[in-house]
Amino acid sequence: MSDAIRPQPGIMEIALYQGGKAQIAGMRDVVKLSSNENPFGPSDRAQEALRRASHSLHRYPNTDHTSLRNAIAAAHGGLDAGRIICGVGSDEIITFLCQAYAGVGDEVLFTEHGFLMYRISALAAGATPVEAPETDRRADVDALLAACTPRTRLVFLANPNNPTGTFVAMDEITRLADGLPAQAILVLDGAYAEYVDGYDGGAALVNARDNVVMTRTFSKIHGLGGLRVGWGYGPRAIVDVLNRVRGPFNLSTVQMETAEAVVSDRDHIEKCRHENARLRTWLADALNDLGIPCDRPLANFVLARFVDTAEAEACEAHLRGEGLIVRNVAAYKLGHCLRITVGDEPSCRRVVHAIAQFKGVR
Ligand code: PMP
Repeated sequence: MSDAIRPQPGIMEIALYQGGKAQIAGMRDVVKLSSNENPFGPSDRAQEALRRASHSLHRYPNTDHTSLRNAIAAAHGGLDAGRIICGVGSDEIITFLCQAYAGVGDEVLFTEHGFLMYRISALAAGATPVEAPETDRRADVDALLAACTPRTRLVFLANPNNPTGTFVAMDEITRLADGLPAQAILVLDGAYAEYVDGYDGGAALVNARDNVVMTRTFSKIHGLGGLRVGWGYGPRAIVDVLNRVRGPFNLSTVQMETAEAVVSDRDHIEKCRHENARLRTWLADALNDLGIPCDRPLANFVLARFVDTAEAEACEAHLRGEGLIVRNVAAYKLGHCLRITVGDEPSCRRVVHAIAQFKGVR
């Protein structure tokens, strides 16, 4: 191809995002614990909504997502539906934020072990990704503030973070929001917010400040990772900007109607939250007992810390041999760790049994 044809600056620096592996060659009874999916799947209401939506596939979807936004607003204790924006997963909201607020010469800040899409979306927008160090795998508000410059436009913080699972308390988050330079937006990524008792994902802070945006997803506790629906909540002026870069038909009728059907199924959400809380503690305790330290898990996964990268890789290979897929997090600069999704009880037992075997044979 001619040298004259070239992509925008930054694009070729993007390392492709690797999703969690789903298959092991030659094996059928595989347990996938690599993508933080909900082992119980979505509410039964999803099937009914899917069927209903399938009758209108010849129609274009509605462009303003009003009905879904109203349902989300009501399910989250009365948010302002006019300040909600829906996207193809929360990934798309992250993309919109970078596209709308960060370009060549601007900086997008996140933490050392922050979610990989922040870097990818920043580079895709031509902006410069900047990393702030963490302390003991936890975001450090002072380090984030120290890393801000007159060029910082966006600060992404997942709370709890993926893949560390650590959490920053709301008073610290508030200090971060208040300490940012005037031109910077704090993006609180609440993909795992529902798993933290009593945490609103930062919604109240969004309401109280004009520089905070919250992102949320249907992929985790709602069990709809395959459907691709997420949303953001922010100041009206920012949501208005994001809607200008959003494609009018970014969500299909199937996506909207299914998401709307599940968002208010409190019983299902409560069951998933309860089971996850019980099993994540069991899993972390069992790993700690095997001499594999984990931070107290607050989301739907645990980060198991091995002695070194070689041991983590050997354990991953052993688990693969047993039909268990966990997440290698070397791309997050955590090569000595494996991230294990909290599955259902048989899966948790199976993974602990296999890791015990691994430890025993070494
Ligand atoms: N943020 C974090 C911290 C995540 O872990 C994920 C999913 N891996 C996402 C955002 C994106 O989720 P989705 O696009 O499925 O909403």
